[in-house]
Amino acid sequence: MSMEPEFTGRVKALNNRQFNQSGKYIIYWMFHSHRANFNHSLEYAINLSNDYKKPLLVYFPITEKYKYSNARYYKFMLDGVLEAKKSIEERGIKFIIEKSDDIKRRVIEISKNASALITDKAYLKYYRKLHSDIAKKLDIPFYEVESDVCVPVEIVSQKQEVYAFNIRKKIYDLLDSYLLKLKPREPKIKSINLDFGMEEITLNNSLKILDILNIDKSVSLSPFIGGYSQAKRYLEEFIEKKLHKYKDYRSHPELDYQSNLSPYLHFGQISPLEVVFETLSKYKRDENVDSFFNELIVWRELARNFCYYNPNYNHYEGIPDWAKKTLEEHKNDKRDYVYTLEEFENAKTHDEYWNAAQLELLKTGKMHNYMRMYWCKKIIEWTQDPKHAFDIACYLNDKYELDGRDPNGYAGISWCFGTHDRPWKERKIYGKIRYISASGLESKFDIKKYVEKIKSL
Ligand code: FAD
Repeated sequence: MSMEPEFTGRVKALNNRQFNQSGKYIIYWMFHSHRANFNHSLEYAINLSNDYKKPLLVYFPITEKYKYSNARYYKFMLDGVLEAKKSIEERGIKFIIEKSDDIKRRVIEISKNASALITDKAYLKYYRKLHSDIAKKLDIPFYEVESDVCVPVEIVSQKQEVYAFNIRKKIYDLLDSYLLKLKPREPKIKSINLDFGMEEITLNNSLKILDILNIDKSVSLSPFIGGYSQAKRYLEEFIEKKLHKYKDYRSHPELDYQSNLSPYLHFGQISPLEVVFETLSKYKRDENVDSFFNELIVWRELARNFCYYNPNYNHYEGIPDWAKKTLEEHKNDKRDYVYTLEEFENAKTHDEYWNAAQLELLKTGKMHNYMRMYWCKKIIEWTQDPKHAFDIACYLNDKYELDGRDPNGYAGISWCFGTHDRPWKERKIYGKIRYISASGLESKFDIKKYVEKIKSL
């Protein structure tokens, strides 16, 4: 099969098996890109289905056993999956949601009757291992397709990049070749009415599916509703009403000038490529667009580079040596306050700014970017051991942020510990890692207004 330009660099064979001509179908295991639009994995799977004349099954397994499963993010995720299912079924393709507590075993099992398996690219080690374990057990080809970055991670760089400015140039040098539109393919064989012999979940309401799942229901639902159409709504509103002030106001938590796209990007409910195309088609390129792309493309893809090449991305051990050394030298510095995980989690510190940030997280599932930096820096200051501080930040981020459990989260936390940053003036507890103070918040924006905003939620 010839490779069309929009797939160049995005498709990787995880094993060297031959296409199974006697297989009954092709499977797209929807893993990260929970969308029908601008989804390279889906379109690549349709191409295979058309070329080899095999029906396509889109498969979404759902587990109760995932360590971070909770009602908040499952509800958001299911909103998106159900919307994608509807759109994909409208194209005549069968989409099965199935409960499975052993995804590895189940994917291998359903692949026995298949011709080829396609899934979305993984950046985090747990999923990369899952994919490579599955690849070894299969007798059919297994392809990973990279649809959730502008430029594929291994094409941009073959090593961990130390600073944003290093990767910025590499990405921008390649960007034009990878910013290609992706048109929806027409599936020649309609699989929608085929029986795949699976016990599928046919409920079409995310709350009803939550009811049948035995997961942690203690984390409240978020006011954000998941799905591609919501993502598009936020994107259009951002372009129309906020983008013109983004550069100046994106770091003003008392205002609302961020795009709010991170939960949608995290679950692959919208493609970053589509966000770029939509922005450029509706807004003349200026310094605000550059500032937005710097976050959406450079920092987001730097986070993927970090998690892909640094196996300790989610551990204190993964921060740079200079940062570890300086933090260790200040480990015994006296802390004015030391809090337990429970006190942090329940927003019970002495600092009303920090508590407001934690309350924003508890109530909405999305803390403002500027407050995330302050929040994590203060966890370092108010914990006796920086290694423990790293774990607390990851735990709270992964449990409550809708966009948590994402390369951005590990890179963001690690940044607070010196990753992708440089040494600064040495001070108590922090050593040479960058410091953010309460008075800094007061001088940069109206922090009291932010506190009031959170109280009124
Ligand atoms: P916008 O300002 O509208 O930015 C657009 C997009 O650019 C975002 O959706 C995001 O995908 C990307 N982006 C923005 N800022 C960053 C950044 N600093 N690094 C990488 N990509 C960025 N982001 C997450 O997606 N998940 C997390 O779990 C997460 N945890 C963080 C923890 C800490 C301690 C810090 C300092 C940052 C963290 N971030 C995380 C990065 C950033 O705070 C969020 O991406 C941003 O606030 C999301 O809001 P938005 O979509 O409205 O952002």
